[in-house]
Amino acid sequence: SEQQTVDDCLFCKIIAGQVPSNKVYEDERVYAFKDIEPKAKVHVLVVPKQHYANIAKVAQADPELLAHMVEVAQGIADQTYRGQFRLICNTGELAGQSVFHAHAHVLTGEDLRDLPM
Ligand code: 5GP
Ligand code: ZN
Repeated sequence: SEQQTVDDCLFCKIIAGQVPSNKVYEDERVYAFKDIEPKAKVHVLVVPKQHYANIAKVAQADPELLAHMVEVAQGIADQTYRGQFRLICNTGELAGQSVFHAHAHVLTGEDLRDLPM
């Protein structure tokens, strides 16, 4: 639930290589990998390497990191779908967040206009 710590955080383990993932991009600040249950032809999770519980915490603590996550999403879309993409950040359990390490869902690779939010 929301009280998940760095020690038992799935995405911290993925970033550390302790849980396998299909990496699509990495730099000093972010790690990006394919979602295990893709909701679009391309569905990538962009995750800060530093643990924050959600995207609002990133914005508060390090707005430049949030901007960088958006830049990385743009780069993925540039390589896959003419620079067009949907960015979703579920924030809180009632909003549908299930992993409490901040992440942005990047959906692209196809026409998304008929895909529900
Ligand atoms: P949330 O529901 O928190 O917005 O998004 C969490 C996402 O993580 C979900 O889309 C889910 O499919 C994905 N996910 C959960 N566990 C794993 C995993 O072990 N590997 C990968 N690649 N994605 C995962
Ligand atoms: Zn974490």
